[in-house]
Amino acid sequence: MKKLTLLLFFSFNLVVGQTDTKIYDIIEAISADNIKTNITTLANFGTRHTLSDTISNTRGIGAARRWIKSEFTTISSNCNNCLNVFYQKDLVKKNANKRITKDVWVVNIVAVQKGTKYPNNYIIMSGDIDSRITDPNNYTDDAPGANDNASGMAGTIEAARVLSKYKFENSIIYVGLSGEEQGLFGGKGLAKYAKEKGWNIVGVMNNDMIGNIKGVDGVIDNRTFRIFSEPVPPTETEQQRKARRFYGGEVDGISRQLARYIYKTTKIYMPEMNPKMIYRLDRFGRGGHHRPFNDAGFAGIRIMEAHENYTQQHQDIRTENGIEYGDKLKFVNFDYTKKLTAVNAINLASIASAPPSPQNVGIGGIVEASAKLKWDKVEGAKGYKIYWRETTSPTWDHFKYIENLTEFTLDGIVLDNYFFGVSAVGENGYESIVCFPSKIIR
Ligand SMILES: [Zn+2]
Repeated sequence: MKKLTLLLFFSFNLVVGQTDTKIYDIIEAISADNIKTNITTLANFGTRHTLSDTISNTRGIGAARRWIKSEFTTISSNCNNCLNVFYQKDLVKKNANKRITKDVWVVNIVAVQKGTKYPNNYIIMSGDIDSRITDPNNYTDDAPGANDNASGMAGTIEAARVLSKYKFENSIIYVGLSGEEQGLFGGKGLAKYAKEKGWNIVGVMNNDMIGNIKGVDGVIDNRTFRIFSEPVPPTETEQQRKARRFYGGEVDGISRQLARYIYKTTKIYMPEMNPKMIYRLDRFGRGGHHRPFNDAGFAGIRIMEAHENYTQQHQDIRTENGIEYGDKLKFVNFDYTKKLTAVNAINLASIASAPPSPQNVGIGGIVEASAKLKWDKVEGAKGYKIYWRETTSPTWDHFKYIENLTEFTLDGIVLDNYFFGVSAVGENGYESIVCFPSKIIR
């Protein structure tokens, strides 16, 4: 209560928000040792190629996914069965593309922690199960995939272990996705499954390569990481595209708002970290498992190391001209993976503790001295934050907190000169992702 009262006095603010000691506890609880054990186990399955052996208990993707499922099941049994753990799978037929050389079941491992208040609202953390080497179709030779992407998978398991000790208002899903290297099949399958089940996915935090701190250029950096987000959803209508020309929103799609949320939460709780928002769907021309969720109209971003090392990624294990090639365990920095896992965990916890974002946000104030906003009441919200920022700023730099109202006029803030958005704040102080206006009010 005291925290919220304080906010009323500071209507102009940079990245300041309420803090909760629980979030610091979560950061502390993420263990680099557990992450090291998990990555080591995954790398030791030899290969986790999507088309690799499924019978052996020691080698191949079958052994890997059974181990991941058993890890989630153990975590669940330690929290009074708080996780619903299951395989979600789709048969992908031979020649679906050039990388599917035989019929294969693409099997994801899903662990759902049901929310207490908004069980059908889901925030998702994902990593990938599968790995590859130089030839994407080589499913027999060693492909440890320690960084790509045992790191993301190990972080997802560790976040589940830590967060399963708490209860949240929204549901959290921890998922290992398969078929990434063969064409993003696992994400496609789960996004389709989510649509069929009517899940309201608030956001997907896809972790792909969160363990390398030494770039191929020699830069060593264990503080910076990237948050990739696409500008606007690919599912928008032609009418929405046309409206954007007049009313704005080119850099304010739902995935971008999720990226800003993660940026802000990290700045508040882990100020030693240097989150870098990248205004792109993904690396130039390359792919990741958040994309199929974006394709289905869901918010989704990619969390990733800042400096990639291409000699240690998608490479046959070998030494050539003195350079050690291959995605080996020894190149992973477990403490960095721990930090990026903590970034995920605190954002999962924050979003899962918050009320839903306001809907139907309208904006007006054309040829007036003041901008006005109006939105639908959010059940369970104590108040709202109206944000605005300079049109050239990447972050929501200013806000006004209000209670008991669903419309507000910002005196003297000229509509033309800023971008605006609204978030909902719960009784517990947690805040939703910002919603950008989608209609005009007069
Ligand atoms: Zn890869």
